[in-house]
Amino acid sequence: MSEEESTVIFVLGGPGSGKGTQCAKIVDSFGYVHFSAGDLLRQFVRSGTKEGNECAEMMQQGKIVPSSVTVNLLKTAMKESGQSKFLIDGFPRNLENRDTFLSVVGHDCTFVLFFDCPEDVLEKRLLGRAEGRADDNIETIKKRFKTYQDQTMPVIEHYDKKGMVKHVKTDVSIEEVFEKVSAFFK
Ligand code: UDP
Ligand code: MG
Repeated sequence: MSEEESTVIFVLGGPGSGKGTQCAKIVDSFGYVHFSAGDLLRQFVRSGTKEGNECAEMMQQGKIVPSSVTVNLLKTAMKESGQSKFLIDGFPRNLENRDTFLSVVGHDCTFVLFFDCPEDVLEKRLLGRAEGRADDNIETIKKRFKTYQDQTMPVIEHYDKKGMVKHVKTDVSIEEVFEKVSAFFK
């Protein structure tokens, strides 16, 4: 399968906005392969390499790890899947991530699925979930919100100008969100 033939949907939204939950449902209903950039990074961290440890430190500070690391993980995962329809969740986190993806993978996304949810709701969800993530503590959460506002919102704005963003309000139930999301895949 050549890369030119692949379809890529970027799924963006604040931490706790429901990216992973909705992606699992999209996979079940619409036959996409889902890769979470954060999950791939946590797996990379578990490798225990020096580079992995450096990434863990950045994630603990709510910072964005170097594009070369993330894009390589994504590219490898896409290639190894042998599939052609991809949901990429939690990426690109900044404009440099996006530029690197374009030059390495060779093409842009088809559209961006953007999950819009107020910060107070996100904070409650993150503190309430018990996934054992090292970064789900109030101190790191505040840093993740700031990084998101400063660096990820410009990515949404970039794609919005191109008319490529599908907006969904996600401060409602999983089922209500999925009903809205489904419409974009039918
Ligand atoms: N991260 C990153 N680049 C990415 C995706 C994630 O650097 O492309 C790091 C970043 O430090 C982020 C953390 O991984 O705060 C967790 O990301 P994830 O998408 O899992 O979680 P979210 O903050 O959206 O809940
Ligand atoms: Mg996630």
